[in-house]
Amino acid sequence: MHRTARVGLRVTRGQRRRLVGLLTSGGDVWACVLEINAWRRARQDRPLASYQELCQQLAISGPGCFGELDSEGARSVLRRYSDAWFATVKRRRDGDERARFPRRRRALMPIRWYYGTFTLEGRMLRIPVARRRPPLWVRLDRDPPYPPEHVRSVTLLYDAGRLWVDVTAEVPVTVYLAGQEPDPARMAGVDLGIIHPYAVAGPDSEGLLVSGRAIRAEHRMHLADGKARRRAAARRAPRPGQKGSRRWRHYRRRQRLAEARHHRRVRQAQHEAAKTVIAWAVERRVGTLAVGDPRGVLNLDAGRRHNQRTRDWRIGHLITVLKDKADLAGISLTLVDERGTSSTCPACHARIPKPPGRVLACPACQLTGHRDLLAAANIAARHGGGTTPTIIPAGVTHRRAGAHLPGVAPSRRDPRRRAHHRGARRSPGRHWPARTSPASG
Ligand SMILES: [Zn+2]
Repeated sequence: MHRTARVGLRVTRGQRRRLVGLLTSGGDVWACVLEINAWRRARQDRPLASYQELCQQLAISGPGCFGELDSEGARSVLRRYSDAWFATVKRRRDGDERARFPRRRRALMPIRWYYGTFTLEGRMLRIPVARRRPPLWVRLDRDPPYPPEHVRSVTLLYDAGRLWVDVTAEVPVTVYLAGQEPDPARMAGVDLGIIHPYAVAGPDSEGLLVSGRAIRAEHRMHLADGKARRRAAARRAPRPGQKGSRRWRHYRRRQRLAEARHHRRVRQAQHEAAKTVIAWAVERRVGTLAVGDPRGVLNLDAGRRHNQRTRDWRIGHLITVLKDKADLAGISLTLVDERGTSSTCPACHARIPKPPGRVLACPACQLTGHRDLLAAANIAARHGGGTTPTIIPAGVTHRRAGAHLPGVAPSRRDPRRRAHHRGARRSPGRHWPARTSPASG
């Protein structure tokens, strides 16, 4: 099983120039392949797509074509092209007419090196370069979370104004003591939601609710912040064909950084939420997770506000991280159609109208319970979970996702949030810079 961690780089100015040079050369390799295939298409030749053919072209071009980039690194770009090409072929064969072949140039292209070509000693990483070039050692800003002998590849990339290395390692599946391993017969249903990214109904009438309110608040703050930024800078936007001002470039950079920070925060919070679920399941020896998959209904247009909500949800990521962590823990995960699970009573199977709040009460049999937990119980039952667990409030564990997000604790006020007294009637406004004398009025 492979796992990847993103690690930042601490580099000198010279090292930075060389690393960016490598990424630029990667972009050149990519552009070359695009160009070769454009020529071939113009003469109605078969395009070059297989990895072997592309590598032959690289060998023909000889050394020195791509700056400091070594052949292993250049081949990783060819591999990426070939994979993208065949993925498109497959999607087209499956009937997806919108699948496009690679066609866009990239200024910087991530470059991967496999085991044996790089050296990783503690935090020092030697990045391979072309022959007769001085060696390139860089420093990582934290220890990679895997033992060095398990590391299989490193990928150099540029994201959000910074250089990073993705360290991929082979990680063994968790080994348990006898009698503590997950039992495949013990099953839990998982309902995915926005307020509760994961609601889990397990065996023995136990449940877990992971609250995602902090994540939702982060999305709202980011949306408002982005709008305010755009409003503030709209006057400086260049006309089509006009070169932007330096101020405009500066604004764009700040915008990209804010965007990247927002994505990192949400990603991290979702990872933590999934980790909570798996830890909870392992503790209760749950061996099978049935996850309700709501993606069938997400492509329906529900108005711009709700569409934005479902996009922010990042449901695919929620499922992926849960699957990855379940695999690692030796828990099997299956996707179940969740249609109707949130509007059916798990005890008497009567249809219940969706309540406005979180508490669902069945008019037929007087069962009451948490809406998301009852949905999770239905999902478990649909997958053959057997008896419907009656959730009692005492058996529910509550956890919060995104405890690190700004604004969650009073001591970490979200800087994007406006001071509460600004604009209030008779408010003195901001207290900075400090006034020498108290304001009148
Ligand atoms: Zn009922």
